[in-house]
Amino acid sequence: MRIDILSAVPELLTSFLNHSILKRAQDNGTVGIFIHDLHDFADNKHRRIDDYPYGGASGMVMTIQPVEKAITKLQKERHYNEIIFPTPDAPLYKQKTANTLSTLENIIILCGHYKGIDQRIRDHFITMEISIGDYVLTGGELAAAIITDSIIRLLPGAISDETSALTDSFQDNLLSSPVYTRPAEYKGWKVPNVLLSGNHKDIDEWKMEKAIEKTQQIRPDLLKNDTTE
Ligand code: SAH
Repeated sequence: MRIDILSAVPELLTSFLNHSILKRAQDNGTVGIFIHDLHDFADNKHRRIDDYPYGGASGMVMTIQPVEKAITKLQKERHYNEIIFPTPDAPLYKQKTANTLSTLENIIILCGHYKGIDQRIRDHFITMEISIGDYVLTGGELAAAIITDSIIRLLPGAISDETSALTDSFQDNLLSSPVYTRPAEYKGWKVPNVLLSGNHKDIDEWKMEKAIEKTQQIRPDLLKNDTTE
């Protein structure tokens, strides 16, 4: 898979992408992540990528020209399955979307800044808009990092045990059951007996019971089944 990220502050992404699972997935060829500085595409000598909003509102708006140039250049090189714009005024990001995105070949993520981006970019280039939550960030880089991370951990070859990602929270509309590791007892705090029993049927039943219990308590909305769309 290939992910191209267009950003006004690329440094925000490089350190995040160059560690841990995300680094390993790039090193072993599971994914290629390419970060592009939007200033490099600006056709003005000050490399400006923002301007005042029409209508006299406060804040600055990202201009069309550098974004158009960057996207058009990439599109000449290969076909992109989705061009994604993270923005708060969009449908909420869910695991199901991450699952779908992880099956694609090439995607672009455009990080917004300031007040956002000229609507015409959204109208003419963006194929998918994603909000990562009901709050407003200063830029799309953190959202792009979150989307990228959630996709990469699903790719075969990214995490050592591929089935692990399938037992995480939100797969099956359930939160994850609790996890334990050695020692079996610490300061009198014990691991539930069933996990030490070696009986896989009992263990699976226990995990399912705990997952349902936790979901009912914390996120009953997930059990209504329609929230992962
Ligand atoms: N004026 C906009 C917010 C702009 S915030 C509004 O009120 O809707 C600047 C940029 O940060 C956005 O263009 C977007 O790319 C990113 N961003 C902020 N909050 C976000 C969120 N909840 N989800 C995804 N991206 C977000």
